Amino acid sequence: MSTLHTHNRVAIQNIRKQFPALQQTVHGKPLVYLDNAATTQKPKAVLNAITNYYQHDNANVHRGIHTLASRATAALETSRVAVQRFIHATSAEEIVFTGGTTASINLVAAAYGQTQVHAGDEVIISHMEHHANIVPWQMLCQAKKAVLKVIPISEAGTLLLPALKKLLTPRTKIVAISYVSNTLGTINPLKEIIKQAHAQGAIVVVDGAQALPHLPINVQDLDCDFLAFSAHKAYGPTGVGALYGKKALLENMPPYQGGGEMVQEVTLAHTTYNDLPYKFEAGTPHIAGIIAWQEALNFITQVGYSNIMAHEDALHTYALELLSSIDRVRIVGTAPQKISILAFTIEGVHHLDAGMLLDAHGIAVRTGHSCTQPLMNFFHIEGVIRASFAIYNTQEEVEQLAAVVARLVQKN
Ligand code: PMP
Repeated sequence: MSTLHTHNRVAIQNIRKQFPALQQTVHGKPLVYLDNAATTQKPKAVLNAITNYYQHDNANVHRGIHTLASRATAALETSRVAVQRFIHATSAEEIVFTGGTTASINLVAAAYGQTQVHAGDEVIISHMEHHANIVPWQMLCQAKKAVLKVIPISEAGTLLLPALKKLLTPRTKIVAISYVSNTLGTINPLKEIIKQAHAQGAIVVVDGAQALPHLPINVQDLDCDFLAFSAHKAYGPTGVGALYGKKALLENMPPYQGGGEMVQEVTLAHTTYNDLPYKFEAGTPHIAGIIAWQEALNFITQVGYSNIMAHEDALHTYALELLSSIDRVRIVGTAPQKISILAFTIEGVHHLDAGMLLDAHGIAVRTGHSCTQPLMNFFHIEGVIRASFAIYNTQEEVEQLAAVVARLVQKN
């Protein structure tokens, strides 16, 4: 594996030192954490920001005039600007804090869908979506008597784009599509999809959950209408995420949940709603998580996406080389444009047995359908073993994974 030079090794070891959770043993073996697509570990800066908030600034936001409330509010709003800049949104009003990707997609499906989708209209998703980008649209279509259409995929795990042209009609209101597949690792040709959808007058909702950890995102360049993403998959806290939406669309949307914070004036008979983005932020948010999210974004900026991509690509290529040379291992998802997710099956070995044996060696991988059951049906499999790599993973960890898989194959 020539791409990982000594200099990189030192840099990666320094990065690893920032992650306390990586410094532990599991079943007596050093932890090899390869379940990053489910959630990444968190650097000290993120953990410190959470503790610091609760120790010094804990107060509810936007409500009090006392010092702690002002500090908490200022820190939360600074985070909003950090998120805005990170994804290159035009204004901080376009960043709505949510509980994560799932909450963001549900917000669009409910609020945008409520006024813009009617009986006979169409919503398009793809065959490789995470359940979070399937079920909310099924619920909307069912409620509105709208039609849910699906972009088919190839055996390699790429979208069959010519099919999209045929699926798009003047009745298509929404195309909801993942930037990156959480099971296959496929990077979808978003710009082309967005261009085609806009040409038919449909808006595009992007599930960016698996893109944020690996790829720079520029919502203006993509021209997507909405982007849903989570902090926890990109070194940030769990239970926090955002919905980016074009201002004009957010302004025209009715509120999602009612409650405190999202209102301007409430009488018992009538309520006027707050401005963007607060109209969509009912209730007390995960203040500590939102504030600490900034630190995760800083971490990515400091390391740099180009370094992240180069390192993860090298690990992915090496893992692919080692695993595909093992008898009976079948790689699921072989798209030419992929991020560092490697799903595979082992003929004659159940994925849960493989997962348990790997865990016994301290190796954490995902096993099962990875919240993509339609994809499992497409490949006629029950589940996969999924190794997903982050910036802190090493060549030795890839070798350990491959060694345990090889032993497993030999024994079964
Ligand atoms: N979409 C994709 C592609 C994902 O990988 C995930 C997380 N597994 C989600 C949506 C849901 O994210 P969250 O659980 O943070 O809401």
